[in-house]
Amino acid sequence: TSAGAVVGLDELPLRDELRGKSPYGAPQLDVPVRLNTNENPYPLPDALVARIAERVAEAARGLNRYPDRDAVELRTRLAHYLSDTAGHRVGREQVWAANGSNEVLQQLLQAFGGPGRTALGFDPSYSMHALLARGTGTGWISGPRNEDFTIDVEAARAAIAEHRPEVVFICSPNNPTGTAVSEETVLALYEAAQAARSGPDEHGALVVVDEAYGEFSHRPSLLPLIEGRPALVLSRTMSKAFGAAGLRLGYLAAAPAVVDAVQLVRLPYHLSAVTQATALAALEHTDTLLGYVEQLKTERDRLVSELRSLGCRVTESDANFVQFGHFGDAAGSHAVWEALLAHGVLVRDNGVPGWLRVSAGTPEENDAFLGAVRAVTKELK
Ligand code: PMP
Repeated sequence: TSAGAVVGLDELPLRDELRGKSPYGAPQLDVPVRLNTNENPYPLPDALVARIAERVAEAARGLNRYPDRDAVELRTRLAHYLSDTAGHRVGREQVWAANGSNEVLQQLLQAFGGPGRTALGFDPSYSMHALLARGTGTGWISGPRNEDFTIDVEAARAAIAEHRPEVVFICSPNNPTGTAVSEETVLALYEAAQAARSGPDEHGALVVVDEAYGEFSHRPSLLPLIEGRPALVLSRTMSKAFGAAGLRLGYLAAAPAVVDAVQLVRLPYHLSAVTQATALAALEHTDTLLGYVEQLKTERDRLVSELRSLGCRVTESDANFVQFGHFGDAAGSHAVWEALLAHGVLVRDNGVPGWLRVSAGTPEENDAFLGAVRAVTKELK
C-alpha cells in the first residue's frame, strides 16, 4: 500500500495478543447525570483553583528546563499525607508517583511482570489490571471470589499455589463491587504468594494492594502492612479522594527497593512540571478535599440504604460507588442500564451479569438517579 492509504489494523504487524481486542473505554456520553466513572462530583474549590494557577505560573517560567525527574518535593508531600492519614509513617524514599495510578501499576508490571511471567487478580475487579498485564506481555490469571464478592481465602491460596504468579493484585475497596478486603486476608495472600515462590533461585511474588478508593472506606488503610513486608505495595491516586481525575496523579508506598525498581522502567521526566505543581497545590488543600470525601461517604451510605428500600440488592460498599442489582442476567442489567440512560442517568455496566455500578454524586445527582431507578423498575416490571 502507498503511504497515506487507509490500512486496517489487520494489515499492521500488531502483536498477536492485541489482535481483535478493544481499548479500555467507559462511554463518555453527554448526559445530564454522569455517575459512571467513579469521579468526584465536586469541582475543585475556588481557593485551590487560584493556588494551582499561582503554582503553575511559577512552574511555567521554568518550562525551558526538564522537570525534577525524581519529583522529590511531591513525593515528600505525598509521604506526609500518607503518614498523617493512613496510620503509618512513610518517608519519601518509600513513595513513588506517576501519571495516574494506572501508570504506577504499569510500571510495576514492567519491572516485575513481563514475558514468561504471570499476574493474578480476583475477578470481577478493576479491568485495567488485566489490560496492563496484556500490554506488558505479562500472563493474566483470573482468581476466584465468593458469591458475595469477598475473596475466598482458601480458593485464593490454592490458585496462588497452583499458578505461582510473580505479581498478585488485591483491589481494596474493590472496583466494581465496592468490597473491602480485610487485613487478615491480605496477610494470608501475602504469605501464600511468598511461599509459592520460595525455591532456591526464586523470590516471592510482589503483592499490589490497589487502594484507589482507600479514603472512602469504613476501614483503616492497609498501608501499615508494608512494614517488614518488602514485596507488599500500596497503590493510591489523587483521582478520587482529591477530586482530581483530570490531573493524572497516582502514587505508591512500599519498601525503598520497590521505588528503585520502578525507576528502572519509568520514562525520564515522566511527571511534567505542570503536573507536579498542580499536585502540590492540591495537597495544600487536603483538609477541604477530605471534607468532600466525608460528604461522599454519607451519600454512598444513603445510596446503599435507599436502593435497598427500592427493592434492589446492594453489595456492601467501602468505595465512592455502589454495585446494585440484581437484574437477572447480563441482558437484564444491560436493559436497566439503557433504561436509566433514557432517563438521563449514566451508570456503569461493567459486564458483571445482573449488576450495575453507580458512583456517588452530589445529593441532587443521587436523587435524580434514585428517581430514575424507581421509574425504571416500574417500567420494566
Ligand atoms: N485502580 C482502580 C481500582 C481504579 O478504579 C482506577 C480508576 N478507575 C484506577 C486504579 C486508576 O486511576 P488513575 O489512573 O486515575 O489513578
